[in-house]
Amino acid sequence: MTGCPVVHFSKVVLFITFAFDQSQSMQNRIGNLQIYNSLTGQKEKFEPIHQGSVGMYVCGPTLYSEPHMGNMRTFINFDMIYRYLLVLGYNVKYVRNITDAGHITNSLGETEDAIAKVARLEQVQSLEIVYKYNVKFQELQRIYNLLPPSIEPTATAHIQEQIESIEKILENGFAYVVNGSVYFDVKKYSEKFEYGILSGRKVDELAEETRALNAQDEKRFFADFALWKKAHPDDMQIWRSPWGDGNPGWHIECTAMSTKYLGPKFDIHGGGMDLKFPHHEDEIAQNCGSLGCNPANIWMHANMLNVNGQKMSKSLGNSFLPKEIVDGTTSLFDKSYSPSVLRFFMMQAHYRSTMDFNSDALNAAEKGFTRLADAMSLVQQLKTAERSTFGVQDLVASFYEAMDDDFNAPILIANLFEAVKRINQVNDGVEQISAADLNELAASMQLFVVDVLGLSIESQSDANGRLSHVMDLVLELRQQARTSKDWTTSDKIRDGLAAAGITVKDSKDGSSWS
Ligand SMILES: [Zn+2]
Repeated sequence: MTGCPVVHFSKVVLFITFAFDQSQSMQNRIGNLQIYNSLTGQKEKFEPIHQGSVGMYVCGPTLYSEPHMGNMRTFINFDMIYRYLLVLGYNVKYVRNITDAGHITNSLGETEDAIAKVARLEQVQSLEIVYKYNVKFQELQRIYNLLPPSIEPTATAHIQEQIESIEKILENGFAYVVNGSVYFDVKKYSEKFEYGILSGRKVDELAEETRALNAQDEKRFFADFALWKKAHPDDMQIWRSPWGDGNPGWHIECTAMSTKYLGPKFDIHGGGMDLKFPHHEDEIAQNCGSLGCNPANIWMHANMLNVNGQKMSKSLGNSFLPKEIVDGTTSLFDKSYSPSVLRFFMMQAHYRSTMDFNSDALNAAEKGFTRLADAMSLVQQLKTAERSTFGVQDLVASFYEAMDDDFNAPILIANLFEAVKRINQVNDGVEQISAADLNELAASMQLFVVDVLGLSIESQSDANGRLSHVMDLVLELRQQARTSKDWTTSDKIRDGLAAAGITVKDSKDGSSWS
């Protein structure tokens, strides 16, 4: 058991590739991508197992509640990563699971069925809870413009595969059965493989963290984890298994589903930073224990979210839902923000960095995104010249260089603003651009802003366009007030607009706003 057989995932199961509109062939761009691998702690040149194809598995949500903004940031970041791989021309199979069953280990090392816990409170069945929150999750994906993964498999539809994975681990001697439950034997496993290879935890240190195992404990060692839990009389979901009625441990679903859809060895496994230990560590152990190898060449982890400088958490009262900030119904912020502004804001932080949600930064992002959207409208109307007076090719290359460097979206945005500056300079007659360069610049900005960052420029331009019509009307009414020397009304309009962040300037040619 030194290595896994490599199976091309198109042969693992027939799948339909998401039709992605690639306006230009980017085949020649493949080959420069560097990705930070959590497993080695360094950036590595990306070499897919199968040339031109990428198999990517990302841990999806556990649907016992609505995903909060921190969860959403993880999914948005992996959406950006998926989009860039597609733009580079890779045939990507993107699997993101939905956890609708399973016992999740809490910080005390105890396992509980979080979905059943909520279902009991609401006096409904487990799958009603899952369905309710899945509808909301799908709606959020649409609102935040996430591309659908190639497949979103659920744990409940893969119980058989999970049982088969557990049987293999038992056969290989890395698990034991106690009273109808099956546990992964971490100490036994550590004799052959390295438990802690991803998280850096040492089995000996884990032993020190061990609370005294009490008489009811079935586990031999604290770090052992449940692969299968014997049914409890209160359980809402129960399945038959060779060890009696019960339900799966949480970690085993990802092993069963990633193997089924991507094969025993694939390119990228991703998830939130909070999943690194124990979930991903245990996934690696399960794969090595059943198939003899770490499932993924590259492990990627997206970072967490802070709000006003504090870690986002329900207990601190600073958590909010992705829909609330769009609707303007969270008391944490004075106003609402469009999904594209929020996406743009989140793209300003690297996916491996923490980021802070606060009003000042969000308002600045809103202004920045409007500037970008305006420049993208303006680029369509620029006058061209014989020759360009600045290096358009270098500018476009800088977009790829940023993303090739471990999907560095904040650097990409900085480079896009360099383009915005040039577009405005051409418009002001300070710089010149040739027709061919203009075409390339416009197409590349569209590709990176819309296809890679997933931003909707139309909605921003629409909002600006509508505002502009409204402002024309407001300024006309104010002008009528001024003409009839109704200073009270005129000042009231000006002050009201100032309170809304709109400045009115009066000059001999009339009034203007910004
Ligand atoms: Zn997982």
